[in-house]
Amino acid sequence: MIRLILLGPPGAGKGTQAARLATELGIPHISTGVILRDAARAGTELGRKAKEIMDCGHLVGDDVMLGIIRERLAEDDCGRGFILDGFPRTIPQAEALDGLLDEAETPPLAVANLELDEDELRQRIAGRRGEDQRSDDSEETMLNRFHVYQKQTEPLLDYYRDRVSAIDGRGTVDTVFERLTSLLASTEERA
Ligand code: AMP
Repeated sequence: MIRLILLGPPGAGKGTQAARLATELGIPHISTGVILRDAARAGTELGRKAKEIMDCGHLVGDDVMLGIIRERLAEDDCGRGFILDGFPRTIPQAEALDGLLDEAETPPLAVANLELDEDELRQRIAGRRGEDQRSDDSEETMLNRFHVYQKQTEPLLDYYRDRVSAIDGRGTVDTVFERLTSLLASTEERA
């Protein structure tokens, strides 16, 4: 069973790779960003509040995010594994996730960090501006998102140091996908 946490800065390709892996493996792709954007589009109270925060490039509060992830992981389709994209994003979220998974005796098997240098990240986000119409891909919000990533999310690499694998995020979608699938194959062999 594959349980993967996909880490990496904004623009590294987490969403693209997570979606593809999920299709290939037949397990859910859980993107907290997508959940929040869907809520924003639906105009729920959570969605309206989250949109304001997302549009500034800040993080939605840990309590809210934990409520969302707890509910999502309790759904039946997660019983066969899952790919987490965009969660956890802070140390408290990672600690809470450990607690959730421990309760069900399902520690995450793999943590992959998609690595890409800052110039490439900027280029990819600039490219995405035309395609995805994400209101948080503007220049100003993007700078905030990088800053927030460095301050709040990068410390997760140390938190997960005993199980994180660095994945080179350069190259085509196919190349990066190959790197991820070989990592998962070797993780499964070890399990
Ligand atoms: P993403 O699609 O993963 O880049 O997420 C887009 C935005 O949603 C982020 O910039 C945050 O404002 C919010 N968000 C997504 N996941 C989380 C999370 N785990 N914790 C806090 N905020 C989040």
